[in-house]
Amino acid sequence: MEGSSSSSTKGGCFICSQHDHWMKDCKFKNYNCVKGNQQHKMKFGTNTTNLNKGRKFLSCFGQNGCNGFKWLDELVAKELQQNATKKEEEEEEEGR
Ligand SMILES: [Zn+2]
Ligand SMILES: [Zn+2]
Repeated sequence: MEGSSSSSTKGGCFICSQHDHWMKDCKFKNYNCVKGNQQHKMKFGTNTTNLNKGRKFLSCFGQNGCNGFKWLDELVAKELQQNATKKEEEEEEEGR
């Protein structure tokens, strides 16, 4: 019986829009805050102001927060870049 699960089983992350994992496995969901010497977890949110409407971000506000703030797309881009560099290095080694 097909059709009971309409969407494909391929991963699709609502948070960072990458397809190799689900939202529950997203590392950006509980991203470690890098600011300060206390351990914070940055919270995921979506901007609602007109200028950047719909743009996702991580923030470290609240009781123990440090007011850290990062745009998610910039973080993801950085991550992808790092991964790409890593991969290139690995491939180079294998190619020898
Ligand atoms: Zn994700
Ligand atoms: Zn913080």
